[in-house]
Amino acid sequence: MANNEDAFKKVVSHAKEYGFIFPSSEIYDGLGAVYDYGQLGTELKNNIKNYWWKSMVQYHENIVGIDSAIFMHPKIWKASGHVDAFNDPLIDNKDSKKRYRADVLIEDHIAKIEDKIKKEVEKAHKRFGDAFDRDQFVHTNARVLEHQAKIDEITKRYSQCMNDNDLVGLRQLILDLEIVCPISGTRNWTEVRQFNLMFATQMGSVSEGSDTIYLRPETAQGIFVNFLNVQKSGRMKIPFGIAQIGKAFRNEIVARQFIFRMREFEQMEMQFFVRPGEELKWFEYWKAERLKWHLALGIPADKYRYHDHEKLAHYANAATDIEFEFPFGFKELEGIHSRTDFDLSRHSEFSGKKLQYFDSELGENYTPYVIETSIGVDRTFLAVFSHALKDETLEDGSTRTLLSLPPVLAPYKAAILPLVKKDGLPEKAREIFDQLKHDFMLQYDEKDAIGRRYRRQDAIGTPFCITVDNDTLETNTVTVRERDTMQQERVAIDELDVYLHKRIKPIAIN
Ligand code: ATP
Repeated sequence: MANNEDAFKKVVSHAKEYGFIFPSSEIYDGLGAVYDYGQLGTELKNNIKNYWWKSMVQYHENIVGIDSAIFMHPKIWKASGHVDAFNDPLIDNKDSKKRYRADVLIEDHIAKIEDKIKKEVEKAHKRFGDAFDRDQFVHTNARVLEHQAKIDEITKRYSQCMNDNDLVGLRQLILDLEIVCPISGTRNWTEVRQFNLMFATQMGSVSEGSDTIYLRPETAQGIFVNFLNVQKSGRMKIPFGIAQIGKAFRNEIVARQFIFRMREFEQMEMQFFVRPGEELKWFEYWKAERLKWHLALGIPADKYRYHDHEKLAHYANAATDIEFEFPFGFKELEGIHSRTDFDLSRHSEFSGKKLQYFDSELGENYTPYVIETSIGVDRTFLAVFSHALKDETLEDGSTRTLLSLPPVLAPYKAAILPLVKKDGLPEKAREIFDQLKHDFMLQYDEKDAIGRRYRRQDAIGTPFCITVDNDTLETNTVTVRERDTMQQERVAIDELDVYLHKRIKPIAIN
């Protein structure tokens, strides 16, 4: 595709045109950073959730899943630190009147310098061909070293400001880096202020007697406050995990980048409870394990990278992000955090209930430490969808739009297509549809020439097209066309079940 911006526009328009994602309340001109999933988007999203749930809960004997309420006692957010510290630093440009996250302005600036390094590397790679040694180049080339030194210096100042909550220093850094507003092009910035991201609402009848409650900004707290319930009722032994998928809400300052940053979104989180002192070992374990989960989808490894945090959240003693190369660059897709005993200790303190575990092997009581893995459903959607969407030129010069989704995530696993609308082919096709529909999401399509039907399925990511032709009636076989290679093979109708199951499975994990 022409460039990244065009590619991203194409992602947004394709998602809408084919019923994956619509802007929320569109007939009323939409609502900022809120989106609705359409008929195909819902299937893809459910498949992402199933893929995660299976690999976490079904494949691990010591992980169970829950579904806690979105409304929770307001004290929970005091205890968790969200009322006091779940803030983003915001800054306004006085000329354009546009609002930005101060930290994002700085991170974008760093990303631009990283881009320059990437370009130097690409240029050198072209020049030296196969003999090119990337490692040696980035450690010796003067220009690259200069860029890297700049990045290191900015990162150091930036982390210091964030850790010390130094808003004046943050603003000074923006001025020193000569960062301009992308709209007005000026450096006329306001002070930096903190902005709390939680949505508040009232529970109970109006005014007196009603309580301010918050829409949860993460699903994790629903797990912590149920720690004892699950541990006791499930007779769970440490180490063990509790998983949850659910909605979270954040009043994000800047609404942009489609479903990357939404105000209502969904998270898939797992809290893994371990012995104190063993948390860093488990942190490394989950860091590796979670990357494997992504790679099992078959997306190339160079689209992912770890980003270890310099600035740690108030509760963490180690943290890393798994970043994905979205059309707008590498950005966080998943966070893996070592949350210490912060949450359970705070909830013990605020609720007056002892949230501890008796370890019969050690013969002692302790507050477990926690490793969290936290991933956005919508960001995963955007990652797989944007990577899958391609315009392809075929050997005969014609073009097709292809959505090469991992088969396990594709909305429809197969399309059942009678070659023509006569000679008993539609009836046979319907029979096959009924035979397979209990196990697979299928689409039946008999309209238009077969070539056009194939293209329609390519564009919505259906991995297999099953065509019923005149031979089918005599031989009880069909043609199966594979989406990405467009290769066709003859398969017996009786074997379709096994054939599809085998090919839809992701690369084995765990
Ligand atoms: P960012 O730095 O991008 O704001 P974060 O560090 O605040 O993200 P976490 O609090 O670690 O994010 O949340 C865990 C995961 O939830 C993220 O990795 C992301 O996939 C998802 N997520 C967080 N905020 C949003 C949002 N506004 N829209 C969609 N997904 C989100």
